Amino acid sequence: MEKKPSLPEIKFTKLFINGEFVDAVSGRTFDTVDPRTGEVLARMAEGEEEDVDIAVKAAREAFERGPWPRMSGSDRGKIMRKLADLIEEHAEEISLLDVADGGKPYSLVRHAEIPMCVDHLRYFAGAADKIHGETLKMSRELMGYTLKEPIGVVGLITPWNSPSLIFFFKVSPAMAAGCTMVVKPAEQSPMSSLFYAHLAKQAGVPDGVLNVVPGYGAKAGAALCSHMSVDKISFTGSIEVGRLVMEAAAKSNLKPVSLELGGKSPLIIFDDADVDVAVDLARTAAFNNKGEVCVAGSRVYVQEKIYDEFVKKSAEKVKSWKIGDPFDPEVDQGPQVDRRQFERVLSYIDIGKREGAVLVAGGRQWGDKGFYVEPTIFADVKEDMTIAKEEIFGPVMSLMKFKTIEEVIEKANQTRYGLAAGIMTNDLNIANRVSRSVRAGIIWINCFFAFDCDCPFGGFKMSGFGKDLGLASLEQYLLTKSVITPIYHSPWL
Ligand code: NAD
Repeated sequence: MEKKPSLPEIKFTKLFINGEFVDAVSGRTFDTVDPRTGEVLARMAEGEEEDVDIAVKAAREAFERGPWPRMSGSDRGKIMRKLADLIEEHAEEISLLDVADGGKPYSLVRHAEIPMCVDHLRYFAGAADKIHGETLKMSRELMGYTLKEPIGVVGLITPWNSPSLIFFFKVSPAMAAGCTMVVKPAEQSPMSSLFYAHLAKQAGVPDGVLNVVPGYGAKAGAALCSHMSVDKISFTGSIEVGRLVMEAAAKSNLKPVSLELGGKSPLIIFDDADVDVAVDLARTAAFNNKGEVCVAGSRVYVQEKIYDEFVKKSAEKVKSWKIGDPFDPEVDQGPQVDRRQFERVLSYIDIGKREGAVLVAGGRQWGDKGFYVEPTIFADVKEDMTIAKEEIFGPVMSLMKFKTIEEVIEKANQTRYGLAAGIMTNDLNIANRVSRSVRAGIIWINCFFAFDCDCPFGGFKMSGFGKDLGLASLEQYLLTKSVITPIYHSPWL
């Protein structure tokens, strides 16, 4: 019988600054907690303003005088590919860190997310030697061209729900561009980021290029955003903190920011869809990674002819969604990341009941230990109910009935968010019309969660701005410089 994976040894608990693991200046630590039990997993060094300052100075030195921004893109690419190979070699151990820290299902991390991290690194390694400007067609006797230069020292702030993936959404293009960086991982899930720092050193990433400073957002994160020597912030997290990030950037050195914020994504299922396939897709869209996914398809609109059948089948199908120890490869859903999130999800479920949504599955804590919540389905949800409007970030699906394409387009857009949307139909005209009418950064037709390195990802409206993934994200770590010279000595003049 295959051995069940278990908690690995936790090797890295200090800050990683200038190529070394170091204690925080204050000597303080914070606990990272096992969401299965609520017990302490590890004590991590707690980075604060002073530590961030040291890390930024190391990154600045590496940027101004170090080899990384100066070496050829092809050499940077080689080092990034080496790092990708090392991640593949250590994929099992790293996966277990994310499972332990966040309660993420092992199969999701091991078979989807870590391989995607490797793909991202290799994709951007391939792009590192293809960064070039343009030759300009000047209207006078001038020669002009543009150079693409790395933006400088970047601050990368990640959330806890996909610590590895979002680390590489940001680190890979930043590295390819020749930037140096300070990463502030979420306090709930810092372990894998430190492991990557260790591997980056082994791969040959020069000291100071990649610094990782775990700590609390209000201290370490805020210090990074307001630092005068940070040239750009890329942030993934909540709208509330996104605002603070912009404010800090505006009040310090006017650094550009890109924000990947929350979502309340609609999944729209038309009458002509295969109901069983749609039920499966909706279940994955809402409950994947226990609903702790920014793009989760948490608002499911079902056309009236198949609505009743869909509700019945969804309530039935959710029974085979396996909840339990996230280390078990058979398990679909582990615990929510921490007590705060667990209580938040349960309180939204209470609100849903109070506001008159019909509970057809789940609705309670699962088991009596840790932070597990039953996958929960509400039917007959109305647009003005809290559970239809606010991002729950937990395993809660809202089912809503619609009649016409016009009606569903309007309802899908009735949200402050615009991160993603899903459509299920076999009618190309419907698919085309809805995909052009729904205001969201990514539209999945007859699929969901179809991410790819080459496919730009980022929100509209209050889901943020700027892109992760694709060559569009590389642009965010580059500056365009124009160079002009007269052509006085041309023999053709
Ligand atoms: P959060 O905003 O509380 O925290 C995100 C990160 O910001 C953490 O590292 C945190 O320490 C840091 N932070 C907190 N306060 C800060 C401050 N004042 N200055 C700078 N940094 C600070 O969000 P969360 O609870 O970690 O994550 C959940 C949210 O993230 C959800 O809204 C979810 O939708 C969103 N999210 C979005 C995406 C996306 O790509 N759009 C991906 C994952 C998660």
